[in-house]
Amino acid sequence: MTTQTDHVRGNDAEQRVVLVAGFGAAGGVAALAAAAAGAKVVVCERAPVELHGGSTRGSTFYMRFASVDELKPDCAALVTAATSPWPAQDDEPFGTAGIWGVDRGFLDTWLREAIPTVGWLREIGIGFSFQESDVGDPPGVMPDGGGKGLLDALEAKVAERGVTVMYETALVGLNVDDTGAVRGALLETPEGRHTLSCDAVIVATGGIHGNLELMTRYLGPRARFAVPCTRSDYFNQGEGLRLALQLGAATAGDFGEWHAIPVDARADGRRAEIGGYELGILVNRAGERFVDESSGEPAVKAVREQDLGIAFAIIDERARRLDTYRLLFFSPCEPVRANTIEELATAIDVPAEALVRTIRDFNAACERDAEGDSARDGLPIPRCSGGAPIVEAPFEAWPIKPGIVLSLGGLKVDEHGRVLSHDGRPIAGLYAAGDTAGGYFNKYIGYTATFKALVLGRLSGMHAAGRELAVVDAGAR
Ligand SMILES: Cc1cc2nc3c(=O)[nH]c(=O)nc-3n(C[C@H](O)[C@H](O)[C@H](O)COP(=O)(O)OP(=O)(O)OC[C@H]3O[C@@H](n4cnc5c(N)ncnc54)[C@H](O)[C@@H]3O)c2cc1C
Repeated sequence: MTTQTDHVRGNDAEQRVVLVAGFGAAGGVAALAAAAAGAKVVVCERAPVELHGGSTRGSTFYMRFASVDELKPDCAALVTAATSPWPAQDDEPFGTAGIWGVDRGFLDTWLREAIPTVGWLREIGIGFSFQESDVGDPPGVMPDGGGKGLLDALEAKVAERGVTVMYETALVGLNVDDTGAVRGALLETPEGRHTLSCDAVIVATGGIHGNLELMTRYLGPRARFAVPCTRSDYFNQGEGLRLALQLGAATAGDFGEWHAIPVDARADGRRAEIGGYELGILVNRAGERFVDESSGEPAVKAVREQDLGIAFAIIDERARRLDTYRLLFFSPCEPVRANTIEELATAIDVPAEALVRTIRDFNAACERDAEGDSARDGLPIPRCSGGAPIVEAPFEAWPIKPGIVLSLGGLKVDEHGRVLSHDGRPIAGLYAAGDTAGGYFNKYIGYTATFKALVLGRLSGMHAAGRELAVVDAGAR
């Protein structure tokens, strides 16, 4: 393996050189902002061009916006509450919440700059619009073409700005000078390793979804049963987090928590979402219900704890007839179908007697329930809402695994996207954007990671280029 040093210099002595690691939403926006603010920008991206974009590529990229001009009314309060390790009234019981929680300056900027950032992207020709509800998603604002559309647009815009993008090139090391400032990086390409010197590095390498060792370290021994949602997520090996931690970076967000969606267990990195399991029941490989299917994300996460980390959604023909069926069972794979429950059980290798009993008991509880809107009565695991008898053939089974959307822990950053040290001071020359920067505790607030990526991308790009939001001119904004 060869090692060589590349000295990328700007056109003049004043021009700063910025390396952006990762070309997802955050990295793409960071590169664009840094170039717009006058820097010489190089992007290194581990994946090949057709697979880059990590989580962004498979994301609907919905934002919790009421319109392109306004956040949803609940947005600021929900995000604020979720970025503290404890409930608001206990905010600083030992004076440590401020250290563990998200930097308040960053939190304010995240919420304040969401709309202006989307406005800036629209001004430079990247389309965003309000979309009515898709199944499973509330109405909100998204880029034209979702995450994939955003990546295509960013590729075109960074090319126009003269940004150099190096695909199949991973950030594997950070170089610091005598003062501890980050002044270069070690990059791995198919041809060998290169050292690149620069004025600042923005780590926008996404989360840790692709790294089973990190997933197991943070999310527990059954981490292997929470699968990345798409092939592109596997490139997210967590270097941004790991390398910054080696330099003494502080963290924000809940390292033991993650956000899950139900995916088809057979999809193997192709985009699939089985949101319709609530129309029927979830059973494990023993043919038994193990969770309240109406509980939302906890039901999906509970699948990880079952034998082989798998469960089956069982529905009947009545559910299949719904107009929304194809959206609720969105998968490249076909379900397993049978005319009787016994045949269905055999086809999915579940004990027939157990599955027949589970469905009989569930159907009986649906009939008995006095409210008529839930199946609670007499079930060992009651169901708090919904639930209709599974009676009409043919029956379907969909194998489900929990797909990991994001892990909540990451680096702690300030209002410029600078990575903070354990002492609360910025690590000179080091920035983080997108999922690499942590934020949420306990529970992810849906449809907010997207604009966190966009805002942090823009803030870090500008600051790394030597500009600040307050002093930037209209052209660069
Ligand atoms: C299926 C799915 C649906 C989602 N839907 C929504 C939604 O509707 N609303 C919402 O708010 N959020 C949603 N999210 C989350 C949201 O899409 C992400 O938070 C956001 O896209 C993260 O962007 P990012 O740029 O930080 O990371 P990513 O998009 O993951 O990009 C990281 C990039 O870094 C590259 N990389 C990794 N390591 C290295 C390295 N060492 N060197 C160089 N390059 C590297 C990767 O290849 C990748 O291109 C969804 C996520 C998923 C998976």
